[in-house]
Amino acid sequence: MRKLAAPSRRDCNNLQYRETARPHYRGPAVFLWIQMKEILIDYLERKQQERFDLKAVIFDMDGVLYDSMPAHDQSWQQVMNEWALSHEPGEFYLHEGRVGKETINVVFQRNLQRDATDEEAKQIYARKTELFQHCNNGNTIPGAKEVLTLVQEKELTPVLVTGSGQPSLLERLDHHFPGVFTPGTMVTAFDVVNGKPDPEPFLRGLQKGGDLKPHQAIVIENAPLGIEAAVAAGIFTIAVNTGPLPNAILSDAGASIVFASMSELLDKLPPLLHLAGTITI
Ligand code: CA
Repeated sequence: MRKLAAPSRRDCNNLQYRETARPHYRGPAVFLWIQMKEILIDYLERKQQERFDLKAVIFDMDGVLYDSMPAHDQSWQQVMNEWALSHEPGEFYLHEGRVGKETINVVFQRNLQRDATDEEAKQIYARKTELFQHCNNGNTIPGAKEVLTLVQEKELTPVLVTGSGQPSLLERLDHHFPGVFTPGTMVTAFDVVNGKPDPEPFLRGLQKGGDLKPHQAIVIENAPLGIEAAVAAGIFTIAVNTGPLPNAILSDAGASIVFASMSELLDKLPPLLHLAGTITI
């Protein structure tokens, strides 16, 4: 058994959100308008739908509503350092949403050419969880609250789809985003058999949004595996790049649009919703 150091405050330095990612595209408003229109039409053509009929916006939680990813990343990095296992820059952002044991096995395979034993995985994950609880600042992502308010003003239902299974989730959400989510509009780890990148969480999200079809919702995601899951569920998926990964990784995962932040989404969502409400093919 390895001797593990107690977490110190120093481990959590500089874990705050920064809007550093570049937008997927820049340019005059009219160009943006045309590009958005083309992207929406492309989705409708691929799905063989005449028009959108938006009823809900489905939100991922970590990295979309809460600024928790830097603490996850830092906790993974530290526990792997303690076990003398090398890791790569941005690796834990790439695996965001994966079951803990699978993430551990990726690192084990690269370092030791074998999977972790159940006992090793248990110890590493317990330590990672301890570090995360110590490091997580509980901050929300700038712009998230305003995006949720906008969605409600547009009479769309905000739905939450998260792989998290914390029992106190609703309490926490209700504290930061009062009156936005209810148990009836939340999909958590307790609601699904298969997590992201399987489409099941988002298919459950469509059900909870009111037995919706894919073209009746849009998804806001930040992670490649979450994007893959939403796209596999057939839903128009917008990425917000709140982490350090290149935009291309989120596009390649299937995101129709990549925004640099929730603040940029707040800015672009009104014209996007307007277009989605008027386009017919
Ligand atoms: Ca996420």
